[in-house]
Amino acid sequence: METPDTAISLVRPAVRRMSGYVPGLQPGPGQRLVKLNTNECPYPPSPRVLEALRGAAEESVRLYPSPDAAPLRAAAASLYGLAPDQVLCGNGSDELLALVVRAFLGERDRVAFFQPSYSLYPVLAELAGARAVPVPLPRVRRMEDMAGLPVPAPRARLFLLTTPNAPYGAAFPAAWIGRLLERFRGIVLADEAYVDFAGESCLPLLAAHPRLLVARTLSKSYALAGMRAGLLLGHPEVIRELMKAKDSYNVSGHAQAAACAALGDQEHFLRTRDRILATRGRFTEALQADGFTVLPSGANFVFAVPPAPVTARALYDRLLARGFLVRHFGTPGLEDGLRISIGTDGQMEALAAAAREECNGG
Ligand code: PMP
Repeated sequence: METPDTAISLVRPAVRRMSGYVPGLQPGPGQRLVKLNTNECPYPPSPRVLEALRGAAEESVRLYPSPDAAPLRAAAASLYGLAPDQVLCGNGSDELLALVVRAFLGERDRVAFFQPSYSLYPVLAELAGARAVPVPLPRVRRMEDMAGLPVPAPRARLFLLTTPNAPYGAAFPAAWIGRLLERFRGIVLADEAYVDFAGESCLPLLAAHPRLLVARTLSKSYALAGMRAGLLLGHPEVIRELMKAKDSYNVSGHAQAAACAALGDQEHFLRTRDRILATRGRFTEALQADGFTVLPSGANFVFAVPPAPVTARALYDRLLARGFLVRHFGTPGLEDGLRISIGTDGQMEALAAAAREECNGG
């Protein structure tokens, strides 16, 4: 029997060299953990989603779906005040980020992003054989301080901008992104995965800036992480170019039906979002009262630094032993904190109490 060595040697060197994206842990069946590590929604999606899925069951299994997700395009366009040809639907926004990288970056092209931001970006850059240009992002104490951050102008074709930032949580004001578009001459992709939990989207900038693309996901604020649905919004001609590079049937019929139903129930969306925002406020205050430093957040998570001498790593382990799964990044600049998704009030009260005991030597 032949060894796999020849097969492996034929893999592109860029792929062989990379280690791949490390997603947050998904506990196996039967593992009873309070899961606060991947920023999912703690509440169910709109009841209309399940209704739509039941209704779609037969045809959407047997037939290919709409290749451009036409009903979802139309629903998203009407919600955001755009034309349908300004919308490209994806199998989650991760697929759309990969599509943008594939369409704009070749070998050795440069792609900029803040450090820290979404840890998928360097992986996509490696995969493309592109050169990553990390731009250091300082921590701010107040959300207002984001407006005063210097506007970078790295030499790159593409700037991937997570706003609100992950894992810190602070959002760039739209005016700041407008200044970025003036100084930086490449494509700016504003990854607004968490924007529904912040105040301001940069969508209004689209009208004047064909170099701007905005990525949205239905995984967080619409509670559809398992369905995989994302949206890319941009200039019609840019979207047309990107359409050529996508898979033919990239969004399943089920995902299209679920996403349309979710976008269509704005009342449910707003109620869910407001609950999460209220919980985020209470949880932040509880941690602060116990000596944590909590970075300002416009997202459905907070980045929290425990009071010395407790280290984030030790607290992660102790919380896990008590059944709470949060996220600790071992990368430079992030080791001192934990990224904690906002769950239900009950979950967050229990977590705050557990963290308090652990920090007091309990
Ligand atoms: N962007 C950011 C900043 C994220 O944190 C995530 C979720 N990991 C995504 C995009 C991708 O979300 P999805 O593929 O579920 O739409």
